Amino acid sequence: MDKKDTCKCKCVNKCIKKCINPPTYTELAVPVPIPNGVPKLPSFVYFDIDNRFTAKQRQRIKDAISWTMLVWAIHMNQRRNPDPSAFTLTECSDFYATRNLQPVWYKGPPISNGLEATNLAMDQFTQLIRDNGFRRASPAKIKYHIPFPITSSTIRGETASRQTRVPLSFVINPTQLDRVDIGNITLSGSMFHAWLHRAGWTHPKTTSYFIFECPYCFMRGNQRKSPAIFDAAVSRLFD
Ligand SMILES: [Zn+2]
Repeated sequence: MDKKDTCKCKCVNKCIKKCINPPTYTELAVPVPIPNGVPKLPSFVYFDIDNRFTAKQRQRIKDAISWTMLVWAIHMNQRRNPDPSAFTLTECSDFYATRNLQPVWYKGPPISNGLEATNLAMDQFTQLIRDNGFRRASPAKIKYHIPFPITSSTIRGETASRQTRVPLSFVINPTQLDRVDIGNITLSGSMFHAWLHRAGWTHPKTTSYFIFECPYCFMRGNQRKSPAIFDAAVSRLFD
């Protein structure tokens, strides 16, 4: 058998294995932090998570989702009660993000700066949280996938083309969750980036584009960039 046939054979075997033993899922509930002045929020968001993730990996995923919602809740609180001394996600994104400021489904007046883009993104997170928590969207799935090359993916969310009833589904690489050099904030940045895809924002994931700059702002505590860290080193962990 030549190399091509061996590959084909391996692929077919993998397919058969998947058909005989389809992945099974368990529901994971994550508490929603409740910001001031945002009415009608569910107490939890729910995910059907692949049972192949270990307890430790599941915890890391849960923490990254909690962090992402915490960023949203802090933003919502600051919008209502501005604190001039705080470094905010809005200010940071406004400074760095200048391109691809609108989600693909957006038909309103043009979004011209990072401030408006951040407000719109966080309002869309509210929509995602409500549609998930009140089970208006179909169940969100957290799929298990080991890519090739093995570090080529971390947390992947498809860009959503509509505004409502979008399932908060992700494909997660378990091997990245085992890496001790990927800290909780970095992993949460990757999760936040994936949420922005589910909110309708799209690539490129590079300097000056909203889908890169906004999660990267959160990862730095909304402080200015350090010249010692290259943008490309960060965006490698965003899918
Ligand atoms: Zn991406």
